Amino acid sequence: MLALDRVPTDDLVRVRRHLHRRPELSMVEHETAAFVADELGKLGLDEIRTGIGKTGVLGTLVGGKPGPVTLLRADMDALPIVELVEAEYRSERSGVMHACGHDGHVSILLAAARTLAERRAEIPGTLVFCFQPGEEGSAGNRFMIEDGALENPHVDRTFALHLYSGLDVGKIGVRDGAFFASADEYTLTIKGKGGHGAMPQLAVDPIVASSYFVTMLQTIVSREIAAKDAAVFTVGKFSAGTTFNVIPDEATLMGTVRCFDASVRASMPERMERIVRGLGEAMRVDYDLDYHWSYPPTVNDRETNEVVREVGRAVLGADDVVEHDIVMWAEDMSFMQEQRPGAYFIVGARGGDATAFPHHNARFDIDERALDVGYAMMTALGLRG
Ligand SMILES: [Zn+2]
Ligand SMILES: [Zn+2]
Repeated sequence: MLALDRVPTDDLVRVRRHLHRRPELSMVEHETAAFVADELGKLGLDEIRTGIGKTGVLGTLVGGKPGPVTLLRADMDALPIVELVEAEYRSERSGVMHACGHDGHVSILLAAARTLAERRAEIPGTLVFCFQPGEEGSAGNRFMIEDGALENPHVDRTFALHLYSGLDVGKIGVRDGAFFASADEYTLTIKGKGGHGAMPQLAVDPIVASSYFVTMLQTIVSREIAAKDAAVFTVGKFSAGTTFNVIPDEATLMGTVRCFDASVRASMPERMERIVRGLGEAMRVDYDLDYHWSYPPTVNDRETNEVVREVGRAVLGADDVVEHDIVMWAEDMSFMQEQRPGAYFIVGARGGDATAFPHHNARFDIDERALDVGYAMMTALGLRG
């Protein structure tokens, strides 16, 4: 149940659907950013900065009372997916879809910004409304930091939310400490020596060696990492060879590594390399390992998170503030939360079967009542010192 008296449901839905029809991929959110800047321009904010981290937008609102500088963040990008949702608001851009709910995030933060601008006198401190590009793998958050998003004014703390189809609408999920996983990627090339499929003794088979590697890789999680420290190694792409009777020269494996603990995360490339080095010795193959650091784990600050809990209890009721398990996806808000105390919470968006598809599924959709919840939370957090 929402305790705020004025929830602009129609606007929330209208803006969300407008953005849903016109999704844009990561780092090319030009129309979305222009729309956001235009909407913010109507609110009488103290400053609007555009082109931050390429297409990011920042709006600053100085409140009527002293207090901290609080950044409220929404991400703007969509995904390269052909939408299969049969709704009148479905994507008008073939092959591009808001399949993660970021259209809702933008709608929520714009509506909250409007209410907060109207109630400026009540706001303790300064608010920075942060509309971020490129969350889906492009680290747009880091680009915004590099472009000064956490300075002028110096941001003291951050809040962010994500709509979530794994949680019932009306509820929010919170968690202290690490909430979302890190996400790093690797490309491994195993180099053998090509030859005739009938005479493997004259070749060095990279496919057999790579197959051992795939299974040995799993022993990092099962035999080297403490069971309490969740981690995932996945080989997402395994390519080699051309036809049935040729042993190829090389095999290429690409995959992702997820974990929650910073020291476990830091140890992963060495562990992988040790295994592939040993494999090279055992099976006569050579290798190239390219390990790419991507998103750190998203870690919530306890004190800042307590503010989310308190606001959630006041706005939604205690029963609807759920202590949530870790979520294995990754989030680039983790970069800002490495630099400032931050709290990231999830907002239930599941209202039935039609809104229970996983994020990034072509049938993903939200129960739009979740927009009210997100709006009420962001507005209340903005009003709270
Ligand atoms: Zn996503
Ligand atoms: Zn997302």
